[in-house]
Amino acid sequence: MDARIVLLGAPGSGKGTQAKRLCKELDLTLISTGDLLRQAVRENTPLGVEAKGYMDAGKLVPDKLVIGLIKEKLDGLRGGFLLDGFPRNLEQARMLDAITEVNMAVELDVDENMIVDRIAKRRSCRQCGEVYHLVARPPKTPGVCDKCGGELYQRSDDSEETVRNRLAVYHEKTQPLTDLYEKRGILVTVDGRGSIDDVYRRMVDAIRGFKK
Ligand code: AMP
Repeated sequence: MDARIVLLGAPGSGKGTQAKRLCKELDLTLISTGDLLRQAVRENTPLGVEAKGYMDAGKLVPDKLVIGLIKEKLDGLRGGFLLDGFPRNLEQARMLDAITEVNMAVELDVDENMIVDRIAKRRSCRQCGEVYHLVARPPKTPGVCDKCGGELYQRSDDSEETVRNRLAVYHEKTQPLTDLYEKRGILVTVDGRGSIDDVYRRMVDAIRGFKK
């Protein structure tokens, strides 16, 4: 059976980094609404123009904008996939149920004190979106992306105030989804502490174990 995974975790939990690697190595299609929205902002599309204000304030972009992105990506998709950053609230979870049936929800569990540090030291590539951490995963040359040579920058929504908002939104809107998926018997919680490799191994074990 193809893995159809929803990845849950607070901002700064390391979700995006793990999602990229899991998808590459387990041959899943990665759908990250955050990445898709940032791309739309970069390209100044009508969606990007509408979404930017919400993102910079650490708020959720309206459901109707995001669901369009998801539908477009899932339509006609073959094989397994992993959703990073979607669904973010119960309404989106319901909309997802109407499109497809997910068979696993993986929650990355981290200590919130870690989050502020992680986000403050996070840098992303303007060109390809690759994510670095100044200590845990520094680029070979400061300020330059290892993969494509693009310029590294700090996301505009990674300021301390916005991060606090994003955490509050996570607790209020997104965390209730763990109950939903737990009731369905498809929730796995993975300890998000430790090195990127440690967490990665735990996630792979959790996913493989679940599929057996
Ligand atoms: P992320 O990269 O997942 O941390 O997302 C960055 C920002 O994009 C969030 O703070 C929201 O403003 C927006 N965003 C990403 N995914 C969603 C979603 N599923 N629903 C609403 N807003 C989203």
